[in-house]
Amino acid sequence: MNYPVIDLTNCDKEPIHILGKVQSHACLVAVDRNDFTIVYVSRNLETLTGQSYDNFLNHKLELFFASLGQEDNGESVLQVVKFVLKNDPGSLNPIRLNIGGHVFNMIVHVSGNYLVLEFEPSSSTIDGELQQYVGSSLSKILEGRTLQDTLESAATQIKELIGYDRVMVYRFWEDGHGEVVAEKKNDGLEPFFGLHYPASDIPKQARELYKVNLTRIIADVKSEPSDIVSYNDLTKGEPLDLTNAGSRAVSSIHIQYLLNMGVEASFSVSLIANDELWGLIACHNYEPRFIDYKARQHAKLIGQVLSSSIQYRNNKEDKEININYRNVADDLIRKMHQDWSVTQALINPKNSVLGITSASGVAVVFEGRTHLIGQTPSVEQVSGLVNWLQAEVKQNVFHTSHLGDHYPHASSLSDAGSGLLACSISRELGEYLLFFKPEFVSTVNWAGNPEKPVEIGEDGISKLSPRRSFAIWSREIRGHSEPWTRTELNSVYKFREDLVHFINLKANEIRKLNERLKEAYDELDTFSFTISHDLKTPIASIKNYSEILLEDNPGINEQGRHFLTRIMKSADKMNNLIREVMGYSRVSRQALNKQRIGMAVLLEELKTELIAAYQPGNLQFTILGTPEIKGDKVMISQVFTNLLGNAIKYSSKSNPSIVKVEGKEEGGQVVYSISDNGIGIDMNFGGHIFELFKRMDNVRDYEGSGVGLAIVKRIMEKHNAKIWYESEPGNGTIFYLSFQRD
Ligand code: ADP
Repeated sequence: MNYPVIDLTNCDKEPIHILGKVQSHACLVAVDRNDFTIVYVSRNLETLTGQSYDNFLNHKLELFFASLGQEDNGESVLQVVKFVLKNDPGSLNPIRLNIGGHVFNMIVHVSGNYLVLEFEPSSSTIDGELQQYVGSSLSKILEGRTLQDTLESAATQIKELIGYDRVMVYRFWEDGHGEVVAEKKNDGLEPFFGLHYPASDIPKQARELYKVNLTRIIADVKSEPSDIVSYNDLTKGEPLDLTNAGSRAVSSIHIQYLLNMGVEASFSVSLIANDELWGLIACHNYEPRFIDYKARQHAKLIGQVLSSSIQYRNNKEDKEININYRNVADDLIRKMHQDWSVTQALINPKNSVLGITSASGVAVVFEGRTHLIGQTPSVEQVSGLVNWLQAEVKQNVFHTSHLGDHYPHASSLSDAGSGLLACSISRELGEYLLFFKPEFVSTVNWAGNPEKPVEIGEDGISKLSPRRSFAIWSREIRGHSEPWTRTELNSVYKFREDLVHFINLKANEIRKLNERLKEAYDELDTFSFTISHDLKTPIASIKNYSEILLEDNPGINEQGRHFLTRIMKSADKMNNLIREVMGYSRVSRQALNKQRIGMAVLLEELKTELIAAYQPGNLQFTILGTPEIKGDKVMISQVFTNLLGNAIKYSSKSNPSIVKVEGKEEGGQVVYSISDNGIGIDMNFGGHIFELFKRMDNVRDYEGSGVGLAIVKRIMEKHNAKIWYESEPGNGTIFYLSFQRD
């Protein structure tokens, strides 16, 4: 087959841009997906083709294959590439090519508009054996009884597969730092097992990449990477996205980090459980060491099987624990429905809310009370914590295994509460369930000083470089608890939902009851109004006929006259009662007509009226301070008439009878007091005297219906005002009325 002759004249005019790098063991070519024009190449292409890289830029892929000495099968390679592009690009990887007597792996993937071809040496010619080997190593890994067995066996198998000096299983902790949890190494190397590495050693963005690319090789830390170049007019300076390129070069900081550790080749396999990066199989070699694509794929397979095994074990353990938590939670909710009470269920000693996590203590802060169960901080400390949560924490469920990171006063509660899982019931009301875990003191061996993960460059300028010393740095960890697990969090989330549902149910029920109560109350009001109204006519008849009987029968005997008089008096009494009951129910019907009431004038008028009505013997009636009140004048005068009337009535047997009314302004309130030196009220009866028809035992000799104070109370409620009293039997009574000033 004939290929076009390379025309160098038009290539050297355009400036070349460096758009990323590949590691020196690999060459890279990227072509346009549509027309197979070569758009990017790695500068080291000459090692593969014997020709300068710029011979290929802006030429067709055929030309490139021809230069690889693939004339015979160049076309078929191209067909393969086209096939790969049409179908799953990963499916045929690697494509083996014999170039200049050496076997190379061509690895193809799609990156945006480009098809990326990476070429790297193929070392495993013994495919069959490798597969067999992987098969047997997988079964060995899966034999592990415990997670630890499985991890150690995976490290051993990977070490045998890739022949690196050290293979570690590195597990990420909740806060992003890592720990070596299994290790297989050459004799004579110092162990890294149990060492912790700060989170900054593998930064977040690197951890994200590990989730996308499951293997990563740095074959020779010291070798110079090769630039990826392109003509400016082909790419407009856009770099090629190398996310999925296995040969992508590594950041210089990471290279420095490895060099500081004395590592010359590194290989890693990601371990992913439940979509999270659980850890890495991290392999170090102290000399350069390349592992070819096939071996890397096999290592990846081992990593995937290990990941599944970790996920399965975690989920199985989680499931069992979850069932226990769930059972406790379900019992609690059932109990709540049974007793129709939240608190009773939560603090039930047999099956307390403590059991929905593995916390050591829980504080139930609900309806104004704090209940402590198990090992918890004190009530005052809990109250401080609740204030802080209300002000600072917006999440419904907040958790930390190091409260000191968040709460300024954490050190005083660290014994019982280094770990906090706070579940809000109502943030507004400061109602929470607070789960506590105690301090768990441990010693952590860091690989180097964790507080100095980077060092300032020697030039004295602030060029950061990874730390040089990895000497063991032992630290006693204080103020931390055991972490809260995903299962515990899920359990609390679910329980919160059930709890809030129950509380809403209860609130709705109470609202319904209130509505029904109000309806019943209104009905009763209407009923008493109607019945009182309807009674008026027959009572008037009774009275009228009695009068007629008395007047028309002058000869009636003394006893008959006495009875008729009693009938008439009783009819009057009934009329009075009816009038008062109607007055009482009228209060709730009447609209408020609020105005400023000049109390000096009103009280003087009432004084005159009351003295005329009661005609007391020896009364000293004093009016002191008369600040104005804002209210309905008719109703307010009813209040004072009733209270002053009672004061005069119930002190009428004292000599002199002293009645005093006094108003004062206190803050935003106007407070009136009405005092007398009469018979007094037993304070044990408390608010009962405000109930309809309630009269004390000591007033038998006094006229009255027991309606007055009920009317007063209703009027005060209608004005959003308060009434209370102080009294001592035999020593008089003071009633207080407190109104809002505005
Ligand atoms: P009554 O018509 O019986 O006075 P009220 O509703 O006005 O009814 O008062 C209810 C009860 O409260 C009275 O029966 C009396 O026992 C008690 N009471 C009210 N005011 C006084 C007072 N100033 N001194 C003593 N007892 C009082």
